Amino acid sequence: MRPFQYTRAPSLTEASHLTAGEDTLAIAGGTNLLDLMKLQVETPDQLADINRLGFADIENTDDGGLRLGALATNTETAVHPRVRADYPVLSRAILAGATQQLRNKATNGGNLCQRTRCFYFTNIDQPCNKRQPGTGCGAIDGIAKLHAILGTSEQCIATYPGDMAVALSALNARVEISGDKGERSVPVRDYHVLPGDTPWIENVLEPGEIITGIALPAPVGGTQIYRKVRERSSYAFALVSVAAIIELTDGRFSRADLAFGGLAHKPWYDPRVGEALLGQPPSDALFDKAADILLEDARGFGENDFKIPLTRRTLRAVLAQATENAA
Ligand SMILES: Cc1cc2nc3c(=O)[nH]c(=O)nc-3n(C[C@H](O)[C@H](O)[C@H](O)COP(=O)(O)OP(=O)(O)OC[C@H]3O[C@@H](n4cnc5c(N)ncnc54)[C@H](O)[C@@H]3O)c2cc1C
Ligand code: SF4
Repeated sequence: MRPFQYTRAPSLTEASHLTAGEDTLAIAGGTNLLDLMKLQVETPDQLADINRLGFADIENTDDGGLRLGALATNTETAVHPRVRADYPVLSRAILAGATQQLRNKATNGGNLCQRTRCFYFTNIDQPCNKRQPGTGCGAIDGIAKLHAILGTSEQCIATYPGDMAVALSALNARVEISGDKGERSVPVRDYHVLPGDTPWIENVLEPGEIITGIALPAPVGGTQIYRKVRERSSYAFALVSVAAIIELTDGRFSRADLAFGGLAHKPWYDPRVGEALLGQPPSDALFDKAADILLEDARGFGENDFKIPLTRRTLRAVLAQATENAA
């Protein structure tokens, strides 16, 4: 690890001022950033510790929703009584990620900003357009088992590795951000971006902006499911994951909010998938139609070709589980 300066930010304004500089990164739980610094993938001159800034509460909002502080840990969030009761898809998604020890330290803001697990990105001897623009993408013709099948570009086929944001996307949560130009709130669905020609840009956060919280809308009814398919039952990133909020009225879909992990550079939300289900009674043919829409533009890169049929099967299984008592 290269030497760096450490500054404990005394206020949000100071944290924003520090991280506006090119060579300073915010540090929260440190579970992703410190690993990347040890590998010299990240080489900041300075770390701005934001742990004393105070936005660690989980509190009710006036509209009946819930606000998750950016510095609340993943564990605190997953076990919070309201998260468990009203947003079980979120609780399950968080608990499907990492390990208990990591979740005890990992924060909600840091989880949203975690970086890809692409082997070429984390190995500084390998080409990677995300780590070092213009060097090429080792994964396109190489080790690509974890990689994307949707929304890829010629520059990068990495996936966003997180679970929590997939559930937040199905729930249509918003990311609350503060910076020197003031505060703004961005739908989680728009927070992460596709690689295009600038794969090093992973989200809409500008220099000097800090995530302060995540706003969940008032709870909705229905069945909530988070299914994560991975190589081990713990301590492994998703090959494919599905967050689903499904409701049936008179035997027909009246709600179908679906988001997917492991498929793209961002949690994947395609409104057409849910819309295809609305007003229809559940059936295998309908589930296949939803999968056809989801996978219309899917493209494998050899090692990850298996994700296309796996995604279809996982979506079908989730929809069958959510509707099994509906007939
Ligand atoms: C072995 C291992 C397995 C894992 N498995 C999973 C998994 O299966 N699923 C999953 O979802 N996650 C998984 N994780 C990732 C883990 O959840 C993240 O490392 C963690 O959530 C990051 O949170 P942190 O607070 O430690 O962030 P940090 O490491 O402190 O920061 C990460 C990044 O976020 C930025 N940042 C942090 N907080 C803010 C903020 N408030 N505003 C702006 N920027 C901020 C930092 O500058 C840095 O760039 C795994 C991690 C490890 C090490
Ligand atoms: S997939 Fe993206 S992160 Fe991985 S090597 Fe290619 S450019 Fe780098």
